[in-house]
Amino acid sequence: MMSKTRHLLGVSGGKDSAALAIYLKEKYPQLEIEYYFCDTGKELVETYRFVDDLEAFLGKKIIRLKAAEGNVNSPFDFYYDLYNGYLPSKHARWCTKNMKLVPFEQFVGSDPVISYVAIRGDEDRDGYISRKSNIQSIFPFRHNIWSEDVIGKVLKNSNIPLLLELAGKNSGSVEIFDTVERMIQKETHPGYTHRQKLKDLLAFGAVEFNKVVFEFLKGTDYPLSKAGSFPLLENEDVLARSDIFNILEQSGVGIPRYYREIEFEINGRKGVYARSRSGCFFCFFQRKIEWVWLYEQHPGLFREAMKYEKSGFTWLDNETLEEFSRPERLNRVKEDYVERCSNAEAGRSPYLIDILEIAENEGCAACFL
Ligand code: SF4
Repeated sequence: MMSKTRHLLGVSGGKDSAALAIYLKEKYPQLEIEYYFCDTGKELVETYRFVDDLEAFLGKKIIRLKAAEGNVNSPFDFYYDLYNGYLPSKHARWCTKNMKLVPFEQFVGSDPVISYVAIRGDEDRDGYISRKSNIQSIFPFRHNIWSEDVIGKVLKNSNIPLLLELAGKNSGSVEIFDTVERMIQKETHPGYTHRQKLKDLLAFGAVEFNKVVFEFLKGTDYPLSKAGSFPLLENEDVLARSDIFNILEQSGVGIPRYYREIEFEINGRKGVYARSRSGCFFCFFQRKIEWVWLYEQHPGLFREAMKYEKSGFTWLDNETLEEFSRPERLNRVKEDYVERCSNAEAGRSPYLIDILEIAENEGCAACFL
């Protein structure tokens, strides 16, 4: 017998996934969502507190998933030993794979799952898409709630006749159908891509488009194929960064404390710094000013990060944390950073994370959303 479809939401300890959990609880209380958090054992104390606060708001357990469960060491330390001290990096992301993706896929097992992903409407990326056919990602903050693989199948030119039939069943009037028919009939090619066709269809009517996709899925093995209904078909919200901050503030959960701006002074000039995202305190994706933040705000954690640098492996390119922590080097990083902040271009954004020049599509949705 086929298992019941599960609805899962991964909380990373960052702002976007927390806002999505709050948003879905408030807007779609009928969804029975299971929340989970992949704990590497190396998160900031602010992150653990934030997850606890969110859990209290949700009134439901956020299941803590730990890779290598039962081992005396933390998940990170277990794998660090297994890889003989070879540190993870942007080019060797064993950390995300072993501590986030594998525990998640084990938690899912073979059950059909809808996985809600907090990529925002103002981002241009798709995030983690499972290769497992029993896991289907849905993106409630975007105009297009469907994953790239679903859209690829729906908009295949060979599926045009089927789409026309499904649209015919769903359109309320002849006029609407005439317009939709013209749009669907237009074949995609290098000069008119899937992306453009999707944009046109969504602009005409996201709800109508969602209903057609939902009907299309019934002929597939996607988890939603067995659902009788899906409330997010009616969802037309598009949420950007400022909406995320509003959701967090209005719920009372607030923003993660590591985002709080802290003032510092360097050579008579003032600056503010913060940590820009969740994840391990030694994450190699963090910017140099965030390493300074760690050194000054969490000196014990900075020292702990230093201890992992053995056998020539370093967290930063071209320097060890010991070299980085020399006063002249720290000051230089601060000076460069203050200079960048005074740049008129960066000054336009009200968010420090923009000033930190974080490329949000860098890294993995599993760690930072
Ligand atoms: S936060 Fe950074 S170090 Fe930790 S698992 Fe994710 S990518 Fe790896």
